[in-house]
Amino acid sequence: MKTIKIKSPGTVANLVCGFDILGLALNEPADWMELSLLDKPEVIIYNRDNYNLPTDPEKNVAGVVLLSIIEKMGEDIGFSLSVEKHIKPGSGIGSSAASAAGAAVAANQLLGNIFTNEELVQFAMNGEKLASGVKHADNIAPCIYGGVTLIRSIHPLDIVSIPAPDMFVTVVHPQIEIRTADARQILKQQVSLKDAIKQWGNIAGLVTGFMKGDYELIGRSLEDVIIEPVRSILIPGFEELKGKCKEAGALGGGISGSGPSVFMLSKNETIARDVESVMRDIYNRIGIKYNTYVTTINNKGIEIL
Ligand code: ADP
Repeated sequence: MKTIKIKSPGTVANLVCGFDILGLALNEPADWMELSLLDKPEVIIYNRDNYNLPTDPEKNVAGVVLLSIIEKMGEDIGFSLSVEKHIKPGSGIGSSAASAAGAAVAANQLLGNIFTNEELVQFAMNGEKLASGVKHADNIAPCIYGGVTLIRSIHPLDIVSIPAPDMFVTVVHPQIEIRTADARQILKQQVSLKDAIKQWGNIAGLVTGFMKGDYELIGRSLEDVIIEPVRSILIPGFEELKGKCKEAGALGGGISGSGPSVFMLSKNETIARDVESVMRDIYNRIGIKYNTYVTTINNKGIEIL
């Protein structure tokens, strides 16, 4: 039986000002997946963790992706998938994307690399549609490509890898539940021209900052006047957290994806660890359980082991 093992990384979508268009891959946490090729058109899923995700392929994002690949192939093939998840579902650090993109990349490897990265993103977006109701690629693209990615357009798909300097990422996941669908529903549908101008100034500044390795410009551009003011009310302690992390030396940061995780970028590990202490102090005081990660940008994306 042909079998393949992969490591599929967590991702931070939006990167504050780039709602639905920017994302980056993390070195930790990551999911482990093992995929085997079968000779019948079926998908069998085994969960090797305690998250109790559905094993019915139509209800599991990885299953939906594999079913769409079987349909596309139009042959008698199937897959057996074993998943050891470390990215908590609903954390806002791309748990569903890691499964969806991981399934697409592993299947492609088993089939002899017949699909392009763009096609893999298309397959994987079927999984995101199941998880959040909309096809979006701001977690999928960095998961597959690695590094920082821009999704300039979904129709037609246009993904651009953005070179970025070395940075540390500190993430806190307060253990509260925010459904991606709910976090989308509360957003305003209209934007004022004044806010739009600020936002596209920041996006251009952030991308330029990444490309020039200009940390100060990155820091100044990590500002969101459209989404964050609405969504941050769902995250206890958000304003204080952001302020104190910046006082501790973080370049800046904000909500990871649709939350509840919050991420901060830092120039070096010492600052990133100080930022982690600030996050811990705040959630210890508020009395909410949390996980933290201090990691770096993952430039490889999904790894075939
Ligand atoms: P995240 O940002 O962590 O990916 P989402 O809310 O976008 O969180 O997706 C998590 C939702 O998708 C949960 O409701 C979960 O039950 C569902 N889901 C289905 N299959 C998977 C899977 N293989 N991995 C993660 N989540 C899954």
